[in-house]
Amino acid sequence: MATAVITHQDCVKHDMGSFHPECPQRLGAIEDHLIATGLAPHLARFDAPKATFEQLERAHGARYIEAIHSAAPASGMVHLDPDTAMNPHTLSAALHAAGAAVLGVDLVMGGEVDNAFCSVRPPGHHACRTRAMGFCIFNNVAIAALHALEAHGLERVAIIDFDVHHGNGTEDIFAGDERVLMASTFQHPFYPYCGTEDVASNMFNVPLAAGTAGPGFRKAVSEVWLPALARFAPQFVFFSAGFDAHREDDMAMLGLDDADYGWVTRQIKAIAREYAGGSIVSVLEGGYSLSALGRSVVQHVKVLAEP
Ligand SMILES: [Zn+2]
Repeated sequence: MATAVITHQDCVKHDMGSFHPECPQRLGAIEDHLIATGLAPHLARFDAPKATFEQLERAHGARYIEAIHSAAPASGMVHLDPDTAMNPHTLSAALHAAGAAVLGVDLVMGGEVDNAFCSVRPPGHHACRTRAMGFCIFNNVAIAALHALEAHGLERVAIIDFDVHHGNGTEDIFAGDERVLMASTFQHPFYPYCGTEDVASNMFNVPLAAGTAGPGFRKAVSEVWLPALARFAPQFVFFSAGFDAHREDDMAMLGLDDADYGWVTRQIKAIAREYAGGSIVSVLEGGYSLSALGRSVVQHVKVLAEP
C-alpha cells in the first residue's frame, strides 16, 4: 500500500503562453522536488486515463462539455475567458486531469493504494457547471467526488480547498447538495469575489484577510473545518490542493509557509483515518511560485505517504 502520484504527459503540453502563471513548468517543479527530497521512490506512479463523457456529465452540462470539445483548436490558441485559453493539447490535458482524479478514487476504493495525489493541470476548482474560468476547464475534484458518490455508492464526501482563491466552481456544483461538505479558506476580498454571501449550509467557507499567515489559517481550520468534518463524518476526503496562499507566491497576499501545508494535511488525514478509512484523493489547483509550489507539495505528499 502506498501513496499514488497520478499525472499524464499531455498535462505539460497545455500552454497558455509564455507569460501565463499557470505554466507547464509547475509540474516539473513538483517532480523535481519529489526527486530531490528522496520522496519519489516511495510513491506509486500511475498514468491518468481520459475522463469519460459520463464522468464529466455528473458535474457539467452536456452542452458545455460539447462546447469545450468544439472550441479545441487544431492550431494556435482559443480563449475561453480572459485568463483561460486552449491550445491544441489542452482538451486532452483537461480530460486526463479529470481522469486522474477519477482514477485516484478507483485506486483508493479498490484498495490498491492508501491515497493519491493528482499532479495535473489545467486546475479545476473555478470551473462551474456550465462555465470555464480562472485557468480551469473541467472541475476535476467535483468530477472525482461525484464518481465516489455515484459510481462507488458513497453517501458523504468532503472537499477541502486551501487554495488562496475561493473554489467558486466547486461551490456552484455542490451548493445545497447535502452529500458533500466543502470546507475552504481563501483570501477575501479577492478573485473570484464570492463565497461569503448566501452560502449554502453544506459550505464551510472561511474568508481570510490579506496578510493572514499560518496562525490565522490554522485557527480557521481548527475552529471551523475540523468540528464540521467531525459532525459530517465523511466516507471519502478530497483536497482541492492549491499552494498559492504561500507567502512566496506573488499571486495573492496570504502568508502560509511550507510547514502549514504539512500541518493541514496531517489534520485532515486524521479526519480521513477516523471516518473514511484513510481514503484521500488530492488534486492540484493553484501554486505559481515554482520553488514554493514544489516544496509545499513535498510537505503535503510526505504526510499523505506517512504510515
Ligand atoms: Zn488559486
